[in-house]
Amino acid sequence: MKPQALIFLGAPGAGKGTQAREVAKHFSIPQISTGDILRDAVKRKTPLGLAAEAKMKAGELVPDEVVCGIVEERIGEPDCANGFILDGFPRTIPQAQFVDRTLEVKGRGVPMVLNIQVELEVLMKRLTGRRTCSVCGEIYNVYFNPPKVEGICDKDGGKLLQRADDNEETIRQRLVAYDKQTRPLIDYYRAKHVLHDVDGNRDAEPIAKDLVNFLGKA
Ligand code: AMP
Repeated sequence: MKPQALIFLGAPGAGKGTQAREVAKHFSIPQISTGDILRDAVKRKTPLGLAAEAKMKAGELVPDEVVCGIVEERIGEPDCANGFILDGFPRTIPQAQFVDRTLEVKGRGVPMVLNIQVELEVLMKRLTGRRTCSVCGEIYNVYFNPPKVEGICDKDGGKLLQRADDNEETIRQRLVAYDKQTRPLIDYYRAKHVLHDVDGNRDAEPIAKDLVNFLGKA
């Protein structure tokens, strides 16, 4: 895979995390999810977590300088030397400009952007039905991909949890934030000829297969 930075773009519930996980595994590169990093900080009650928690609960975006700082530090780590996946970042035009600047300064080329498109109805079911393993992070969905035993991870028996922001009120706000602040990135990247649309209205497996195929040839 040639591009150093792979960006997964899409509305909340589009399947960015699920797909990024598969692609990262296949190409042995790290998946950098700003949402996961922030949730972990909230859980551990670090200064970052305390600063971000209210915004996340409200379904709003955390300030650009906070997430840019997280990403800058993370992509400087040795495991990112051969490339990395940004999952849920950038989400605003200033964040995208930050990625461009950072890659340029480091001589790491331009990013490739995968835009996962999903219909609103499917997004809502994905978000309200999502459950995540508290041990390994595996993602399930009570409608589309239920575990064999309710509430328990098939892989390690870990308890499945629902994200604090996967409730209807917060979901509504997150979709508003996506429309206002993140959707403009589609035009931003299309104009740079680095955007690839992906039909995300399918099961996770065929999407992952297509992505791995496409990236293998890229
Ligand atoms: P996610 O897991 O990607 O859906 O992110 C969960 C929440 O974390 C979002 O609703 C935001 O509050 C925050 N967040 C994650 N990534 C970003 C980002 N790139 N910019 C701003 N806020 C973010």
